[in-house]
Amino acid sequence: MNLCTTKTEPVTTSSSSSSSMQYVPEQDSNKMERVFNQTFQRYSSNNTKRTGKGTAIVWFRNDLRVLDNEALYKAWISSQTLLPVYCIDPRLFATTHYFGFPKTGALRAQFLLECLADLKKNLMKRGLDLLIQHGKPEDIIPSLAKAYGAHTVYAQKETCSEELNVERSVSRCLQQVVVPSEESAGAATTSNRHPNLQFVWGTTMYHRDDLPFDVTCLPDVSKGMKFVGGETAGLSRIYEYFWKKDLLKVYKETRNGMLGPDYSTKFSPWLASGSLSPRLIHEEVKRYENERQANSSTYWVLFELIWRDYFRFLSVKYGNSIFHIGGPRNIQHNWSQDKKLFESWRDGCTGYPLIDANMKELSTTGFMSNRGRQIVCSFLVRDMGIDWRMGAEWFETCLLDYDPCSNYGNWTYGSGVGNDPREDRYFSIPKQAQTYDPEGEYVAYWLPQLRAISKDKRNFPDTIRRTSRMVQEEVMIEDQTGDKFREEET
Ligand SMILES: Cc1cc2nc3c(=O)[nH]c(=O)nc-3n(C[C@H](O)[C@H](O)[C@H](O)COP(=O)(O)OP(=O)(O)OC[C@H]3O[C@@H](n4cnc5c(N)ncnc54)[C@H](O)[C@@H]3O)c2cc1C
Repeated sequence: MNLCTTKTEPVTTSSSSSSSMQYVPEQDSNKMERVFNQTFQRYSSNNTKRTGKGTAIVWFRNDLRVLDNEALYKAWISSQTLLPVYCIDPRLFATTHYFGFPKTGALRAQFLLECLADLKKNLMKRGLDLLIQHGKPEDIIPSLAKAYGAHTVYAQKETCSEELNVERSVSRCLQQVVVPSEESAGAATTSNRHPNLQFVWGTTMYHRDDLPFDVTCLPDVSKGMKFVGGETAGLSRIYEYFWKKDLLKVYKETRNGMLGPDYSTKFSPWLASGSLSPRLIHEEVKRYENERQANSSTYWVLFELIWRDYFRFLSVKYGNSIFHIGGPRNIQHNWSQDKKLFESWRDGCTGYPLIDANMKELSTTGFMSNRGRQIVCSFLVRDMGIDWRMGAEWFETCLLDYDPCSNYGNWTYGSGVGNDPREDRYFSIPKQAQTYDPEGEYVAYWLPQLRAISKDKRNFPDTIRRTSRMVQEEVMIEDQTGDKFREEET
């Protein structure tokens, strides 16, 4: 059996305007299956020897894949019997920390179920059956370890406090469990021990141990779409975006778009659930560079993945401060928690088409472009003056790609409490609309009432009330003094 023995080495060096639903990826299930099988063949090997004894458990968390999964690989080689487990933890379906929104919205819950069904199917093909249990990992994992006499539980390491608390609880409860030691299997006398809990690092493209510095010294630098959950769909999206549609070569030019599936990779939901490995994406970018072309776009996708790594490592460096109102720099600011203003933002009823369209897209699909996220974040915190954590927690509810490090990292940046030296990251709505939606195509897609208005007016209907900050920015646009715009490209 060739399991998850990837040939991929961890990195060791330094639009459409139609209103119909678009599936991401587009392929049907047979085609996706073929892509999965081909990718699996390319990145796995048959040569691994399975020398272990006894039973091991792999506790799946945000690593819902078979390829390039170190926890699964280690559990497999170290055992004769492998039990893969996923715990549907009720705490993930409770409410957010400060403002009581649902912690997991319906769309991400659906995506997760699809990821689990796909993982179960892919494990089944390799002779393994995923056990899906409802309950807390600290109750389930130790009781399974006891029932099966497992010598080791393998899992992927997380970095944020809620996940770390779960890790500590599982570890504590495993200490209460006694199982026969491996050496005593078949021997006349039995010696006992506690099951081991072994974590592996697996969420980033660069391995934590390969960073050229300690994480604590990390430098402070500067209708829509329906995503199909699971590794099979994630690998198919790589195939579609890189190879079939050949879009990787133009990523840098298109990445600031907002409409349709193809202006950016859309890998994030699968990366967040761990259905895609960032190292595998790295390998595929390198293969594309060898077989097709290497240019600034191929470089830029890896650059964005480094941002993702960066926010993960930042969570190690700054701990819980990324969730606190003052952020890592403990900035004091008088934030408002005005419920009406917040709800108008959340529900897409501010009267600003660009904001409302983006917020409608988020609640309808669970996705929003990077450009949109920056714009609505700036609007909430800088134009409305609302507590940034309310926005971050609403994103936590809705996003399919929700990841505590990327979400809170980006929100702290956007609201000026991150470790970003550029403090005032104001995004002028009129300028953003002129640059990224000049024909009002995006806003008209999400706000059909605007379709009747001429294209140049869709983003600027007469009814909108401008905040004083916006009026000031609009004057700047009219002055055509480009250097006055303080917004930054990220
Ligand atoms: C306020 C705010 C909140 C965000 N919350 C999240 C979140 O919870 N989860 C999440 O994955 N991303 C988050 N992002 C980052 C970014 O918007 C998304 O990763 C990106 O839009 C996903 O689309 P894509 O996969 O097509 O990205 P692409 O443009 O194709 O980029 C490729 C990959 O690079 C990574 N990436 C790109 N930009 C960023 C970034 N700024 N920060 C971290 N990683 C990045 C993602 O993994 C992405 O899939 C947030 C950004 C902002 C401004």
